Amino acid sequence: MEMKYWKKLSHKEQDTRITEALEININYRDIVPIGIPVSKLDSNVFYEHASFLKEAPLLRAFIQNPNHIGCHTLGVSEPFFEGTQQLEREVIELLSVDLLKAGDNSCDGYIATGGTEANIQAAWIYRNYFVENFSARIEEIALLSSLDTHYSVTKAANLLNVRSIGIPVNDETRMIVPEYLDGAIERAKADGVKYFIVISNMGTTMFGSVDDPDLYAAHLSKYDVEYKIHVDGAFGGFVFPVSCPENNVNFLNPNVSSITLDAHKMLQAPYGTGVFLVRKGMMQFVCTREAKYVSGMDITLSGSRSGTNAIAVWMILFTYGAHGWFEKISKLLLRTKWLCTQLDMINVGYYRHPCLNIVTIRAEYIPVHIAGKYGMVPDTHTEMPNWYKIVVMDHVEIEYLQKFIEELTAQI
Ligand SMILES: *Cc1c(COP(=O)(O)O)cnc(C)c1O
Repeated sequence: MEMKYWKKLSHKEQDTRITEALEININYRDIVPIGIPVSKLDSNVFYEHASFLKEAPLLRAFIQNPNHIGCHTLGVSEPFFEGTQQLEREVIELLSVDLLKAGDNSCDGYIATGGTEANIQAAWIYRNYFVENFSARIEEIALLSSLDTHYSVTKAANLLNVRSIGIPVNDETRMIVPEYLDGAIERAKADGVKYFIVISNMGTTMFGSVDDPDLYAAHLSKYDVEYKIHVDGAFGGFVFPVSCPENNVNFLNPNVSSITLDAHKMLQAPYGTGVFLVRKGMMQFVCTREAKYVSGMDITLSGSRSGTNAIAVWMILFTYGAHGWFEKISKLLLRTKWLCTQLDMINVGYYRHPCLNIVTIRAEYIPVHIAGKYGMVPDTHTEMPNWYKIVVMDHVEIEYLQKFIEELTAQI
């Protein structure tokens, strides 16, 4: 992996960059902004002279409270926060180019509140794209995804008032069944749908399964319909590209138009750090022309948002560097493999994608009290579960998994 931006920076180097960025932002000592409701945190409540803040650039940023409203990879943005917006731009460019193989400056993006927002942003852009470029009527547009897809996609369909079509997957492989895909497209077409917004998964929430965007493209192309493909990598986006670098789920693939990542999952960033990345030329389809008082264009689903979140992601990426991150993921995958080997030895049935750190065990093998004790997550809370999953993260150590295996073995 040749990395253009994704290097390692020492804590001191990071501190210097963040301090410089905060100095470029509005300085409330010298400037009193009388026209806009921006402010640092209330100093009557949050004491800003604590000595430990000297060592803590993220907390200093938190107190200065930059507002990153808007999208900073195109057009002009609010000038008050130019310094830290630059750090967000660096995160977007690093992730597009080094993690997801885009050409230099070929993507726009922003730190969204989470995967949900990033997925809705994508669907919103494509809905408007079909309306503006093809004069599509709303009832001619559909969202298309597998039945293992995250529910934020149904939420998007509901909000945008377009129909949502779910494709069944194979129970063993969790792969989309091509015949069902054909059938669904045919039925939708007969029903007047001409435009498809595809949500293709890079690591489903429950299984970690990865869809093939080219399968969608191949099938939709047969039916003479328009489509755009968004990749939901909210769970797998910081794992799959690293553990399985030769893949077609990135911007090298012309079928992929945009990608969601979530820094607050595998990257362990603070909540509120989803990432939306999209090829240039698409963000404009959601420009709110009425937003005249904000400098720059209003083209994000969320309005005001904390710039500190972007800095947190920046710090995590530059603390590890590409190699450090690769090592961390490799360790998690070794543990996942260890777990699968143990399950194989006691003949417990499960699904696992070889490049991901989720093991999803068939519920028939897991007594309810063990699932509860170990905090395993069921596929449903309203009916009898079919599956329970284990996500192997940093805190899920082998010693703990071993206890789980011992207890499970004793039950069999
Ligand atoms: C978690 C998740 C989401 C939603 O992300 P939030 O950050 O909770 O909004 C969307 N898609 C997938 C695949 C996820 O795992």
